[in-house]
Amino acid sequence: MADESTTERTCDVVVIGGGPAGSTIAALLAERGWDVAVLERDRHPRFHIGESLLPHNNRLFERLGVLDEIREVGIVKNGAVFNSPAHATPRTFYFADAIDPSAPSAFQVHRADLDLILLRNAARKGAAVFEETLAVEVKLSGAGAQVASRGPGGERRWRARFLVDASGRDTVLANMFRVKRANRKHASAALYAHFEGVQRRPGIDSGNIEIYWFDHGWFWVIPLKRGATSVGAVCWPYYLKTRRGSLEQFLEETVALCPALVDRLRDARRFTPVTATGNYSYQSVRSHGPNCLMIGDSFAFVDPVFSSGVYLAMASAFAGAETVDACLRDPAAAPRAVRAYERHVRRGLSLFSWFIYRVTTPVMRDLLMQPRDFLGVVRGVVSLLAGDIYGSRGVRWRIRLFQLIYYLKSLSTPGQSAAAARRRRENVRAVG
Ligand SMILES: Cc1cc2nc3c(=O)[nH]c(=O)nc-3n(C[C@H](O)[C@H](O)[C@H](O)COP(=O)(O)OP(=O)(O)OC[C@H]3O[C@@H](n4cnc5c(N)ncnc54)[C@H](O)[C@@H]3O)c2cc1C
Repeated sequence: MADESTTERTCDVVVIGGGPAGSTIAALLAERGWDVAVLERDRHPRFHIGESLLPHNNRLFERLGVLDEIREVGIVKNGAVFNSPAHATPRTFYFADAIDPSAPSAFQVHRADLDLILLRNAARKGAAVFEETLAVEVKLSGAGAQVASRGPGGERRWRARFLVDASGRDTVLANMFRVKRANRKHASAALYAHFEGVQRRPGIDSGNIEIYWFDHGWFWVIPLKRGATSVGAVCWPYYLKTRRGSLEQFLEETVALCPALVDRLRDARRFTPVTATGNYSYQSVRSHGPNCLMIGDSFAFVDPVFSSGVYLAMASAFAGAETVDACLRDPAAAPRAVRAYERHVRRGLSLFSWFIYRVTTPVMRDLLMQPRDFLGVVRGVVSLLAGDIYGSRGVRWRIRLFQLIYYLKSLSTPGQSAAAARRRRENVRAVG
């Protein structure tokens, strides 16, 4: 997508990584007239995990001007269905019931399609995109950033006024600064594959994500285009370590622990290899350094249970674009701008994290399966599930109320709650 000939280049901003976060910030900064280069290790389209999106993603797609393209490659997701072995019937949360009903659906996408659209959009907006180009070395100073890259044109050196790390779970800057930390409150691992022939629910439910709890964690079932369904197990890391045979066999054995899912997959055939991902729950102590910023997963990732990863990555790219723009225009204002950015990003993460840390506890499961809409608390939870964490009034206090109800209910079942808390602590300790 970009001129490969020169070995030394100067620009305003180098972005490492052309996933959703990197492509989004590159498009927004190029739109503002900055000279931006994106270095992406892979060539798109390529497989990536993270296929279920949130309604509030659509707002961001619209602002980027790509919503129609996403619609072409996506399946409409009207809600999320929770299946519990302890409850007789599944429970569906429809996004149309959120406090802000103007975002009633999201999309399920092959990430190969989504990421290609976003990267092309960045190039269309004027960013220079270099694929199959690995950022191999970074040096930062008060004057800016120097990046060495290796790609089809050989080695190249970049001088930029600002560096954005959007390298996802490679966490280039957090590793370099040694500020990456395993999450002390959560740990989980995953194994997943694509299947064909998975039964779909009828009508408006056909595109919903489904969550199935089981003894060692939970499964996702995500319907995708081209007859594919993404199926994954998110489990405590200790469980992943009990594997003896191949990953394929292990996924089969794991599915067998969840009879409702076995039933759902009875006519299904797996057509991709199984991938496993070890504990991926981490965050960085800080999100910035001299003339540089971390966005998306390069700063933090918690857990996929509420499909929040891509939304949070893109939302941080929008906030990041404002921040980088402010830093470039007025370097004296940079310290304040990056601090405000970090507060904003942490706020979004913490709202989801509270739910994520507790999603496998019996109390949370009961509350999600049989919610009573006291003072609209369920609408608050649906709003969170839709990704409405920065916008609508009335979401935050309802979430706080839900948290209070959770704690009161936990107090009413002290033995069970203490056991769940102990299990979580032991699980996290076993990883660290
Ligand atoms: C098991 C699992 C399931 C998930 N399910 C969901 C889901 O259903 N919904 C959801 O929203 N999120 C989900 N996520 C999270 C989601 O995958 C991420 O949050 C999202 O991809 C983050 O986007 P990003 O742009 O920050 O990083 P990425 O999408 O990872 O993009 C980073 C890019 O940087 C490139 N890169 C890395 N290092 C370098 C380098 N040195 N030089 C050049 N390029 C480099 C990579 O090739 C990559 O393209 C899931 C995550 C996991 C682990």
